[in-house]
Amino acid sequence: MNVPYFDLPGQIRSIRPELDAAIARTLDSCAFCLGPEVAAFERDFAAFVGAGRCVGFNSGTSALHVAMRLLGVGPGDEVITTPYTFVATSWAISYVGAKPVYVDIDEATMNLDPRLLERAITPRTKAVMPVHLYGHPFDLDPIVEICGRRGLPLVEDAAQAHGARYKGRPVGTFGALSAFSFYPGKNLGACGEGGALTMEDAGFESRARALREHGSSVRYYHDEVGYNYRMEGIQGAVLNVKLGHLRAWNAARRKVAHRYHRLLAATPLLLPLEAHGAESVYHLYVVRHPARDRLREHLAKRGVGTALHYPLPLHLQKCYAGLGHRAGDFPASERAANGCLSLPMYPELTEDQVDYVAQSISEFKDW
Ligand SMILES: *Cc1c(COP(=O)(O)O)cnc(C)c1O
Repeated sequence: MNVPYFDLPGQIRSIRPELDAAIARTLDSCAFCLGPEVAAFERDFAAFVGAGRCVGFNSGTSALHVAMRLLGVGPGDEVITTPYTFVATSWAISYVGAKPVYVDIDEATMNLDPRLLERAITPRTKAVMPVHLYGHPFDLDPIVEICGRRGLPLVEDAAQAHGARYKGRPVGTFGALSAFSFYPGKNLGACGEGGALTMEDAGFESRARALREHGSSVRYYHDEVGYNYRMEGIQGAVLNVKLGHLRAWNAARRKVAHRYHRLLAATPLLLPLEAHGAESVYHLYVVRHPARDRLREHLAKRGVGTALHYPLPLHLQKCYAGLGHRAGDFPASERAANGCLSLPMYPELTEDQVDYVAQSISEFKDW
């Protein structure tokens, strides 16, 4: 058997007629940059998240960047975030000339550890931006409490967590601003790039709309320096189609995860269990073990694709050498980076495929 790490062609095939119709509609209307398809998606995605407002962007990275601009973060400021994430979370902070201040993760959830948060706050701290990593909500109660008490805006990086819930409430509704990515591999993916911000505040919404369109709300009048961060019409149309399937897809991911949990419980692997009150949407299913590299090779020989999320924490990346960190600064993140292994995880995985992955792992003896 062959179990690819990810099967985007399978997903596209399953909804191809709907996608063809949506793309054809956009070709007919020629509303290629923003337009009615994007407006419809913003409305429907806000409703899906349970957020008051949604603004579409051309990527999740752009959405995060604009979040920093909306909060007035700039040179000399600090933003608290996690070193164990995709690098774009930190890019947003760097783009506005501010400094990412890292707080290590809680190894139970792989998310920013609230117990370490408060001691990282300084007079320069302008915002706190944790990540709902792998689709599992970060520990919102203590983080929301600390942000509230210290008067710091919370930004959710929800790029991997469309539809995840914390104590029944969807992520993307807790922060002053929340960013989503629609990169093709995400739980909700465009046929290209895409992103969004959700928020309640009307002022944030109108400024976000202006910033994504060259800083103008009236054409050719530019109130502040902006960007070309518009969502494409075709992506809005595609995302509307896929949004209709997202609940079922997330439920299918959870079924795959529960099957993995059951089949892998007796192995030496550390499994991604859900924290109390958290409902993960399993963007990734990441197991951990120090023998990760050998296991990965074994699985490759058996036709099972795997990946690493993420092999090197941000504080040890070359691009952030200027921050002056060293190995050992964030030990939980470093252990996670050295032990993580992402197993195949997508809604189209069959029970036979999941069983084959688990069987292949149980045949590995070189722990
Ligand atoms: C994917 C991702 C982003 C960036 O989104 P793009 O749409 O690829 O720009 C940001 N943060 C996290 C955690 C991500 O996984």
